[in-house]
Amino acid sequence: MAFSLPERQILGIHGLLPPKVETQDIQAMRFQNNLKKMSDPLQKYIYLMGIQERNERLFYRVLMEDKEELMPIVYTVGLACTHYGHIFRRPKGLFISIRDKGHIRSILDNWPETNVVAVVVTDGERILGLGDLGVYGMGIPVGKLCLYTACAERCLPVAIDVGTNNETLLKDPLYMGLYQQRDQSQAYDDLIDEFMEAVVEKYGQDTLIQFEDFGNHNAFRLLRKYREKYCTFNDDIQGTAAVALAGLLAAQRALGKPITEHRVLFLGAGEAALGIANLIVMAMMERGLTQAEAREKIWLYDKDGLLVKGRPQETDSNRHDSPGTVQSFLEAVNTIKPTAIIGVSGAGRLFTHDVIKAMGTLNDRPIIFALSNPTTKAAEDAYTLTDGRCLFASGSPFGPVTLNDGRVYTPGQGNNAYIFPGVALAVILSGVRHISDTVFLEASKTLAEQLTDEELKEGRLYPPLSNIREVSLQMAVKVVEFVYAKGMAFRYPEPEDKESFVRATVWDTHYDSFEPDTYDWPGVSFTPKTD
Ligand code: NAD
Repeated sequence: MAFSLPERQILGIHGLLPPKVETQDIQAMRFQNNLKKMSDPLQKYIYLMGIQERNERLFYRVLMEDKEELMPIVYTVGLACTHYGHIFRRPKGLFISIRDKGHIRSILDNWPETNVVAVVVTDGERILGLGDLGVYGMGIPVGKLCLYTACAERCLPVAIDVGTNNETLLKDPLYMGLYQQRDQSQAYDDLIDEFMEAVVEKYGQDTLIQFEDFGNHNAFRLLRKYREKYCTFNDDIQGTAAVALAGLLAAQRALGKPITEHRVLFLGAGEAALGIANLIVMAMMERGLTQAEAREKIWLYDKDGLLVKGRPQETDSNRHDSPGTVQSFLEAVNTIKPTAIIGVSGAGRLFTHDVIKAMGTLNDRPIIFALSNPTTKAAEDAYTLTDGRCLFASGSPFGPVTLNDGRVYTPGQGNNAYIFPGVALAVILSGVRHISDTVFLEASKTLAEQLTDEELKEGRLYPPLSNIREVSLQMAVKVVEFVYAKGMAFRYPEPEDKESFVRATVWDTHYDSFEPDTYDWPGVSFTPKTD
């Protein structure tokens, strides 16, 4: 409807549309009106994704205008993934199955866009906190790529299908992947190797490959295997780490106490926990501690209890001597006396009232990050049970909490969306070949710095999500400066003005050639594009 008369004539679609030439403002208005009428989140998802297919610029425009409402719909896509086969309209990404071994390059050749700069890939084994969703995991790369601030059409979502161990899906006639158990043999590794090689062969060595929602056992292995060989990162490990650390750095601003003086106890010792622990150690080392001293300050508690020396699963982050018998997470809190607890177990509801109260007794201002499956009242409980003294962040969004005496606190949302778009943009633009953890440390610091003092006073540990585009741009600028300064950037010549360099690349949602003179519909104002 926004095609001008000459465009309609050139395209041979004159007469196939109603005669009015519409502005994007009117199209956005129609979208908003329609969305308001919908209450079912899945229906909203289907509608929004339909807009993305039909009119990408309009899609990004409405997404940017109402991030708080729309981002959870396109991005926190657990429900959409669970129902992927049932609500399926179009594939939206590339599917590579274990049966395609030996042919991945020719499958990539079928993808219509030849100039891909970023790939987001999942094998669907650990989708959000939902577990194995097999090929239904495609919703994740599609959603993540919606948040890339630049080059939208040059991003490629990929689902690798090696089967699924999800019995419900294997019995579902609408399931869309291979009806087989996950292949965990050498063939899996060979497939991923072939995929990585095919991507760089087709799109170039500096193509960014972002790993999402792989199972724990593969995620660490693949990261270690590929991190020096490809331009790659694992968002669940490194992105989560950066966002959680940024929350701690912001808390440090509120407390006036350096990160080196904190003692952190994790609930969970998986991808998220180990990634965060590693980055906290790096941040502490930057502030003068040795690696051993920093690791002393980090404790992990998983489904088998505290991770101490002698446990079968020892990690680099933790080699503590046993502090004695610890039977529960509450006992761990009382024994270790942490200043911060970070919940990333996926199990949910383990930050009990007693745990929160214990944190409130041990600390003047306890740091409580409930990053996985918190209950609907998690934020309220945390503030109420600590009399508003806690610094709280969660993985899911929570509205402001008002205490009985009228004090209002806005919980932080430790969402990876604060990190990966900015980091990815910087990496793509500056031609980074390997993404070192120091890049994530830098991103973390930038995020924490972007929080204003007023926002900190409101209890926030992250800037409002509505600012995410600007936050990502600022982060990209800082990371571009950092990678050039550290000799990690290989795009020459080095841009002098990094800020303009970054800003010039971001997506413009205006239509390319709207011709105001063809537009004379009464009662609707139109402001010509000036940039
Ligand atoms: P993972 O499977 O790698 O690790 C889960 C860990 O939790 C394991 O160490 C396991 O032993 C432990 N665990 C499970 N049940 C437990 C119990 N009852 N008591 C104690 N420990 C238990 O998963 P992951 O990638 O580390 O993700 C964990 C959770 O964190 C998921 O719910 C995920 O959605 C969430 N997460 C949140 C964010 C975010 O908010 N930014 C980012 C990443 C992950």
